[in-house]
Amino acid sequence: MWVTAGPILTDMTGKSFCELPASSNGGSESVVCNVAMINELQTVSRDCFICENDMKKVLIIGAGPAGLTAAYELLSNSEKYQVLVFEESSCLGGISKTVNYKGNRMDMGGHRFFSKSPEVNAWWEKILPSQGAYPYDDKVLGRTSTVVPGGPDPEKTDRVMLRRNRISRIFFNSRFFDYPISLKFETIRNMGLGTTILAGISYLKAVCHKREEKSLEDFYINRFGEKLYRMFFEKYTENLWGRHPSEISPEWGAQRVKGLSVKAVLKDISGKISGINSSEVETSLIREFAYPKFGPGQLWELIAAEVEKMGGVIIRNARVVNIMKENSSVTGIVYEKEDRMITESGDYVISSMPLKDLVAGMNDVPARYARIAEGLPYRDYMTVGVLIPHLCLKNKTGIRTIGDIVPDNWVYVHEWNVKMGRFQIYNNWSPYMVSDIEHTVWLGLEYFCCEGDAMWSMNDDEFARMAIREMVVLGLIGREDEVIDWHVERVKKAYPAYFDTYAQIDELRDYLNTIPNLFCVGRNGQHRYNNMDHSMSTSFEAVKNILSGESTKDNIWNVNTENKYHEQQS
Ligand SMILES: Cc1cc2nc3c(=O)[nH]c(=O)nc-3n(C[C@H](O)[C@H](O)[C@H](O)COP(=O)(O)OP(=O)(O)OC[C@H]3O[C@@H](n4cnc5c(N)ncnc54)[C@H](O)[C@@H]3O)c2cc1C
Repeated sequence: MWVTAGPILTDMTGKSFCELPASSNGGSESVVCNVAMINELQTVSRDCFICENDMKKVLIIGAGPAGLTAAYELLSNSEKYQVLVFEESSCLGGISKTVNYKGNRMDMGGHRFFSKSPEVNAWWEKILPSQGAYPYDDKVLGRTSTVVPGGPDPEKTDRVMLRRNRISRIFFNSRFFDYPISLKFETIRNMGLGTTILAGISYLKAVCHKREEKSLEDFYINRFGEKLYRMFFEKYTENLWGRHPSEISPEWGAQRVKGLSVKAVLKDISGKISGINSSEVETSLIREFAYPKFGPGQLWELIAAEVEKMGGVIIRNARVVNIMKENSSVTGIVYEKEDRMITESGDYVISSMPLKDLVAGMNDVPARYARIAEGLPYRDYMTVGVLIPHLCLKNKTGIRTIGDIVPDNWVYVHEWNVKMGRFQIYNNWSPYMVSDIEHTVWLGLEYFCCEGDAMWSMNDDEFARMAIREMVVLGLIGREDEVIDWHVERVKKAYPAYFDTYAQIDELRDYLNTIPNLFCVGRNGQHRYNNMDHSMSTSFEAVKNILSGESTKDNIWNVNTENKYHEQQS
């Protein structure tokens, strides 16, 4: 329980400026300090939340998957910790949030729930049990998906994890290609026999003569051959990262496509033909995934409610700007809320905020490490949800869908004449993401950009109009005025990038490890291409260390560094 017994701070005149109601757990809205006061009050305690007895105070930065997992784990495993979560935005779930726009829900990128970690899977199952009956679309279309006996019925219950079949293809030359590329008649027909032969020859060449892997371009060519690389990887990668693959570290490929190659594709196909259930399925080939009825944010909103129920405090619209350090230990943070600066001391800080911002806000960082953090690159992301009455693309797959739309969850756009990187078809993620699934299609058009560049600087209206024009170019709709409604979302630092000072990140990590009570978790918190499950696992490890008093942090940084990332199928 929080002890919040009236004024606890005074300014130089003795006037109270940080008051909390004499109640437990809350009052954060009334906690007020201003920057000038903070600067003056170097020696005065500025705790706004005071712990009872010998409890330790843990300050968690960010209410995304990593931050909320850390809060939940601490509170559910021990009663010795007071937990405060500081979230810059008004939303919960970070990049894994769900935005509800007039009853149509958007997922920032489409989040498949998949993990090889039994701990993560058990956690998800505990919060959102797997479906025990078919969801609406599978039911009316007579399709099948995995049903767990005794599980909740999505038609009657909201707290349920759906099981969805993954379908995602590449759109190139106005045709669909499987992603990853598969060897079947349709692929050969779409590519043309001549191109298929050239692709085969170039693949064989790559098998016989492996390039030294100095860049992502080398990584792809070694695995797919030059022809397939040029057709299916070069443009998309450059669009995603804003850099040519020849300028990007091969490590990104190892993180992102984990073992994906023509060989892996062949192995997957042969496994299916022979009926042998391979125990290893590469990440990019995973075909069924879990998905909350109302998108990923549903899970994180439930977790946040549990955190608050257990006595944790989540302060929204609270941007952490400084991390205070004394004698190599972190002593607290300063956060900005409604144009005011507020300080909070703590015994531990768990940070999922971007490494670049964390280090920039920390005092006494040696210049060398400050420079590495400052140089870490990111890629930002913009998406527009577009509501249309129907999709012009023909469904030739034979897979039944409501409205006979193409069955893809998402489509990679490889056309050279548009800037769009991908589009999501939310109808196919969950029928409950769309308010009128029988008569409308709800899409998420995705663009990769850099904060402050020409695209990012467009206002929402300009951006949406540009994206809608591209829908016509791609043949998704016939005319711009077919669009019923749209909504724009922007995600800063959606992708931690692996170039520039990333090469020296180990040095920065070693420096941060010298601060014993600071724990860097999550995706941007570690500057690693972590998925939700990895981000959660970093928090599992951080909490284990806090609870056990373990001083090394290797277990936290080692999450998602294994060479092979594969699903263990039981
Ligand atoms: C397009 C896209 C698609 C993806 N698809 C998948 C997928 O299919 N499956 C999957 O598992 N993962 C997927 N991911 C990855 C997933 O989104 C992340 O792994 C996950 O959200 C990371 O969680 P996190 O808590 O570390 O960080 P975040 O989700 O980034 O959350 C960090 C939080 O910290 C807050 N914050 C930042 N700075 C401050 C500050 N100074 N003060 C206070 N708060 C701050 C942010 O507002 C945010 O809420 C995808 C990511 C993207 C971009």
